[in-house]
Amino acid sequence: MLSAMLTVGPWELEHDDLAGAFDRLHGTVGITGLSLRVATAPQLQLVAHAYEHQTFRTRGGLFYHADPDRYSSTRCKPIMSAWLKRKDPLERIGEACTQSGLSLRAVVSASLTGRIAAKHPDMACKNCFGDVSSESVCLANPDVRAYLAALVADVSARPAVTALVMADLQIAWSEAHDHDLRAGPALGAVERDMLAMCFCESCQQQAGSLGVDMEAARDTAKRLTTVSLQRGAPCDQPLDAVLADQAPLTLLREWRTQTLTKLVDELVSACSGELILLRRAHHDRALDDFAAFADRAAAVITSVEEIETIRGAMCPSARRNEVQLPGWLTCAPHNAELVRGLSQAVESGFNGIDIDGYGLVGDSGLAAIRQAIRYARRSAND
Ligand SMILES: [Zn+2]
Repeated sequence: MLSAMLTVGPWELEHDDLAGAFDRLHGTVGITGLSLRVATAPQLQLVAHAYEHQTFRTRGGLFYHADPDRYSSTRCKPIMSAWLKRKDPLERIGEACTQSGLSLRAVVSASLTGRIAAKHPDMACKNCFGDVSSESVCLANPDVRAYLAALVADVSARPAVTALVMADLQIAWSEAHDHDLRAGPALGAVERDMLAMCFCESCQQQAGSLGVDMEAARDTAKRLTTVSLQRGAPCDQPLDAVLADQAPLTLLREWRTQTLTKLVDELVSACSGELILLRRAHHDRALDDFAAFADRAAAVITSVEEIETIRGAMCPSARRNEVQLPGWLTCAPHNAELVRGLSQAVESGFNGIDIDGYGLVGDSGLAAIRQAIRYARRSAND
């Protein structure tokens, strides 16, 4: 059966009558399950059907009550969101999901959970110019890896949670991909990729000990960025062509992929239920990494921004493919696109769909989702 998920933050579910809202999502709209964000990056959003807060802002962190005993082997300790009330929202939402017949997945950010990098600069990613990220932790760092394994074990053991969705699985100085990075016209795909390369102590030590010339790799990343900045225009060659005669950087990238592959294996072992990976279609290089380890996970969800990119968003090596669409597609006049997009996804072979952002969806949006799911199911003869 085609799974139809809705990604949601616990702050979007402050209803008194949660069971009533979930019954409607399941029975009327056709949603089969929720993907609940439990470890998130900083967020600022408007909530369409807020019970308490129409504007919601968080510096990120964990949105459930973590079990501190699980994190004893790592210096990286869980940081709870200040929003957390006394009662654990994961427990409350899990109970309501079970009552309403909705499945429940927990969504965890691997590298961008709020405030960890800022609190532990020694665990954060560092770019070729030595700038330490305030957003992203490095997934090569042993304390970060132990923390993530503990987090996966902790969350996946909760009643009602059937799967864990791992987002932001990347080793990257993430500010390189921020929209608000002021950089002028010289910052193209190649320059962003060079700026995103991590040269933190863990990367230097581990890749260096395997024979990667880290000094040369860093000099090349610096040079490629600086040359474009001086020229005032981005590199006009594709990254593969640029890297063709840059052995240290190519080796460093291969090591990075292997490191992420090992991490996925560790997380699959730690997870009580299914481990699912979420990738973003607009980070082209991240897709290359995913091809190496997609088959380790139970499924891969590819997040797309444009309906036109759905057909190319399939991850060929994944055991199961799902597609995630942004919540704004449920708004008029995009609803027709949503219907077309979901049908296209099903025809392209995707086994599941996911709408990202329950909080962005008003009543008319829910009607659009209902219609899109019905058409998609018809296309799939579901
Ligand atoms: Zn690193």
